[in-house]
Amino acid sequence: MKPVRTRFAPSPTGYLHIGGARTALFSWAYARRHGGTFVLRIEDTDVARSTPEAVQAILDGMAWLELTHDDGPYYQMQRMDRYKAVIQEMLSQGHAYYCYTSKEELDALRAEQEAQKIKPRYDGRWRPEEGKTLPTPPAGIDPVVRFKNPKGGAVAWDDAVKGRIEISNDELDDLIIARADGTPTYNFCVCVDDWDMGITHVIRGDDHVNNTPRQINILKALGAEVPTYAHLSMILGDDGAKLSKRHGAVSVMQYDEDGFLKEAVINYLARLGWSHGDDEVFSRQQFVEWFDLDHITASAAQFNTEKLLWLNQHYMKQLPAAELAAKIAPRLAARSIDCTTGPSLEAACALYVDRCNTLNVLADAVEVFYCNIEAQPELLAQHLGEEARPALTDFANALADIPWEIPAIAATIKETVGKHGLKMPKLAMPLRVMLTGQAQTPSVDAVVHLLGRERVITSIKKYL
Ligand code: GLU
Repeated sequence: MKPVRTRFAPSPTGYLHIGGARTALFSWAYARRHGGTFVLRIEDTDVARSTPEAVQAILDGMAWLELTHDDGPYYQMQRMDRYKAVIQEMLSQGHAYYCYTSKEELDALRAEQEAQKIKPRYDGRWRPEEGKTLPTPPAGIDPVVRFKNPKGGAVAWDDAVKGRIEISNDELDDLIIARADGTPTYNFCVCVDDWDMGITHVIRGDDHVNNTPRQINILKALGAEVPTYAHLSMILGDDGAKLSKRHGAVSVMQYDEDGFLKEAVINYLARLGWSHGDDEVFSRQQFVEWFDLDHITASAAQFNTEKLLWLNQHYMKQLPAAELAAKIAPRLAARSIDCTTGPSLEAACALYVDRCNTLNVLADAVEVFYCNIEAQPELLAQHLGEEARPALTDFANALADIPWEIPAIAATIKETVGKHGLKMPKLAMPLRVMLTGQAQTPSVDAVVHLLGRERVITSIKKYL
């Protein structure tokens, strides 16, 4: 068995979105699974649409997801001499030929074929054949180079995802591999690259299925080994329609910005079209051990935002408090909130993580502890009954002398409501609003404990 070499070959015309990231992940994982090499190749020959910013955005997205390549990045624009040399070889070996058909002639041919209701295709008029006399090349015309596609028979491959696919060679006309100005065309560059880079497994989106028979024929003409192809089905949005900006068709970096952990995104992407039994939650390491091409589904995968959020919360809860706090601190700092001015950020995060499914939601939740909170008068009025006022005063006073531990605080709350003949919420609700400005918080004794004795006593007294 040849050592596995996979590649990710994005065209740098935009950011790395969910579909591209999944392709990259599967290619990366397959290489890792087999101790192989993961190649990164930037397909930047569409100069009008390729930008250095897009290259950077792709590199950033891959770096964030830790999809580290072992070889490359190769840039197709830097390999032009190589492509041109291969075109010359193909010409000299008779696998390619010059074609001088002008645009007007092609248009006329097409019109004629359409009138006869046959599929428009190049008719091979410049294709050299045994015993055929070719027209004399017209003066002043730069020819294109066409690939001499095999005649008759079929090209077939066993797609690792879609199964056997067979296309009759008669369906494929002689593809232009170099334009009149000498620049090589897309399908040709891919073949030379996959060949030169020793790619054994091409894992890519199924929008490339139609290119594959052409690429296989070119590879065969080059004497290259044909790689295994695995064409991944598309990803649909939450609503079953094409992936839109609302779900997935955004940069993966947007997920970072929106407070998703890369572990969650990786786990989520892994399940987009691949499965290992009923396993939903698994680490990157586990994924690499399990990943295979046999369990990629041929049907379209559907994006599910709820599931991504659920996984994200799972991974947030798994993080040690210190690591979680280290991810929240910069998010608070970006809002100009100094989290050294309040209670332990670790403790605050630990207290709120159960109710937050993104880092941003968690930052929203804990930020109150580092700001001057003014309870909204209406909210306070809604929760603070007259009968609770003396109880809150008593409670604040009692806090002065107790050990600062959650059980002692809980006992003090209980004693106070008992003494004043109140139900628990009568005290707990205004307390929540006074301390956090919000009526919903985790267990109130834990919130009191987190804020610290002095701050709690001062806050309560401020409103009484
Ligand atoms: N550059 C192509 C794209 O971004 C991928 C080509 C390939 O994987 O063969 O769609």
